[in-house]
Amino acid sequence: MPMIVGVGAAVTTLLVLRALRRRLSPVVTSKLACRCGKIQGEISAIRQDSIRIHCYCGDCREYAKFIASLGEQGDTTIGEYGDSRLVQVCKSALKITQGHELIKLARKAAKPDGKGQLIMHRYYASCCSVPLYNTVDFLGFVGVFTDFLDEHCMEYAGPIRMFPEEALGAPPNPEADVSFPDLFWKQLRYLWWRKCGPFDYTQEPVYWASASDTKKDD
Ligand SMILES: [Zn+2]
Ligand SMILES: [Zn+2]
Repeated sequence: MPMIVGVGAAVTTLLVLRALRRRLSPVVTSKLACRCGKIQGEISAIRQDSIRIHCYCGDCREYAKFIASLGEQGDTTIGEYGDSRLVQVCKSALKITQGHELIKLARKAAKPDGKGQLIMHRYYASCCSVPLYNTVDFLGFVGVFTDFLDEHCMEYAGPIRMFPEEALGAPPNPEADVSFPDLFWKQLRYLWWRKCGPFDYTQEPVYWASASDTKKDD
């Protein structure tokens, strides 16, 4: 019994410390603008709850190439080592103040059985063909591309890396690995806000996985 009380006290202390740290953590605001400037917005999020992520996965690269191809532009958001750079914030932290109607939805593919689609919702600027942010309808976070945020986005913690095994080459100063307990905790914390934010999940998506088959002109 004393053992259980001891564990309980330790967990309570940890939660209180975490809450305190969060309370003391500054709110960082970073303005968002697509490449051509027609879409404007901002993220404003508690530093403690947010994290910059460098994602090296092949999916993010394919997606970035597809979006650039819609505008027939050569330069993509893909970094030197095949990385995409995002900051992950609570959905309620993202606001779009201008150009909402220009934001379009892209998804990887419809599920093979025709029932629903693969999970990630990726939103992009149709005016200038750049990716803006990625999310999932039933989770509470959104990953916003730092390419289209102002320099204040660098004040968020991180970066951490995801899928380093899919990187193109070896970055000389590799980021810290993602901490899955921390990530999981944040996912739980954010769940309350899963219905927040400027996301239209019902929009007819463009599919990027088989780009040549499904490319649309809109
Ligand atoms: Zn634009
Ligand atoms: Zn990725």
